[in-house]
Amino acid sequence: MEIQEIVLHQKKFFNTQQTKNSKFRKMYLEKLKGLILENENALYEAIHKDFGKSKFDTFTTEISFILNDINYYLKNLESLSKPKRVSTNLVNQIGKSKIYSEPLGNILVIGAWNYPYQLSLSPIIAALAAGNCCILKPSEIAEHTMKIMAKIINENFPPEYLYVYEGGIDETTEVLKLKFDKIFFTGSTKVGKIVYKAAAESLTPVTLELGGKSPTIITKNANLEIVAKRIVWGKFLNAGQTCVAPDYILAEESIQTEFLNVLKKYIQEFNYQPGSEHYTKIINQRNFERLIQLIDQNKLYLGGNSNKENLYIEPTVLINVSWEDEVMQEEIFGPILPVISFTDFNLTLNEIVEHEKPLAAYLFTNNSEEKASFTQKLSFGGGCINDVIMHLGNENLPFGGVGNSGIGNYHGKFGFETFSHQKAVLEKATWGEPNIKYPPYSDKKFSWIRRFM
Ligand code: NAD
Repeated sequence: MEIQEIVLHQKKFFNTQQTKNSKFRKMYLEKLKGLILENENALYEAIHKDFGKSKFDTFTTEISFILNDINYYLKNLESLSKPKRVSTNLVNQIGKSKIYSEPLGNILVIGAWNYPYQLSLSPIIAALAAGNCCILKPSEIAEHTMKIMAKIINENFPPEYLYVYEGGIDETTEVLKLKFDKIFFTGSTKVGKIVYKAAAESLTPVTLELGGKSPTIITKNANLEIVAKRIVWGKFLNAGQTCVAPDYILAEESIQTEFLNVLKKYIQEFNYQPGSEHYTKIINQRNFERLIQLIDQNKLYLGGNSNKENLYIEPTVLINVSWEDEVMQEEIFGPILPVISFTDFNLTLNEIVEHEKPLAAYLFTNNSEEKASFTQKLSFGGGCINDVIMHLGNENLPFGGVGNSGIGNYHGKFGFETFSHQKAVLEKATWGEPNIKYPPYSDKKFSWIRRFM
């Protein structure tokens, strides 16, 4: 079947109202969970073929996320879908007011390659939980994971409800010409703009989960052992190919040397080296070449070696970096960590504010004034104080960007809301209608109206 036909079938199927039934939604969420568990090994193998990611890392950063999402919606779907009663103001008496969460209809989810299961299936799970029909277009760059998701889903789900559409730029360009009730895109800011423009043609709402340069500030009031441990893990996980990875470090000058020493210790201790089990490859030649260009040999503190044949780049730390350096112009998205030193915390915050709003920001300190300035002055999608990345692991927090790093959010109840329309309904009693609302009007009615409204 052609994709145009599948989209039409999804629209028709949605109109049968079947997906609005919570039992139907739960049945398919359970089915998806069963399929993921049954095919767990095949999922590990596919991602390993794409960029050498280990079973351990795939479970902790992908499979566990998806299973937790499914469990969350299985548990909370009824309460999230229940109409919410709100109070009714005086002019609308005698009446009842309710907000109905209704599914939007047919959804297009476009995924990125760096966490191919999580970034494709998490939005799909939220969209199905909210009662929608979905097309998933995973990233063709992680080819094996795209194929395994297509196989598992297309062999087990009716295409009029959920379908995986395989393809690259040409196919995505075609599918973007079709009419959806929502487009959910994860990827670069550059492609996000293309998606946004295409969606504008048919006034389709979008959620854009984009990237950016996420700053990580370390002050003299931080516990450097824990700082370095957490940063090494968060930066070199997936070889730095993580949208919320610390992009660059801003270290207070007085602790920079000590910080670098501990950083080095943990890079060695964690064995983040090309070829080791928990260190992944760079996804392709294009990204490899792009990253190599960013390594300024004159600023090298650690690492810098690479292997073109098998696409490995060593964990690399650059020092004496300035805001003007090439490495500071675009999101790095690889295992290169520039360190800029600072002496004035507030001036550093001002410098960050001058740049595009990042997807994440991190601060390491035990000083409450610094914590307060960080949360008040900086605008960013989400972040942590004294940790990195882990805010994503709390389903009670929304995950999304702001400004250049994205539009909208998801995870937990926020994901359900992203794929729902909040329909307002006022139900009036058919008795007790005040005459004051209707003509003919008089000064006396006007004075009463002024009091009521
Ligand atoms: P990308 O923008 O190149 O690709 C994303 C998707 O868009 C893919 O499915 C791809 O097929 C499609 N695409 C690519 N070019 C297109 C075009 N010209 N027209 C239409 N569709 C097109 O991004 P990527 O390389 O997969 O991921 C890296 C970027 O994504 C980084 O910037 C990263 O920060 C960001 N990202 C953001 C999040 C988040 O949750 N906010 C998560 C992961 C990655």
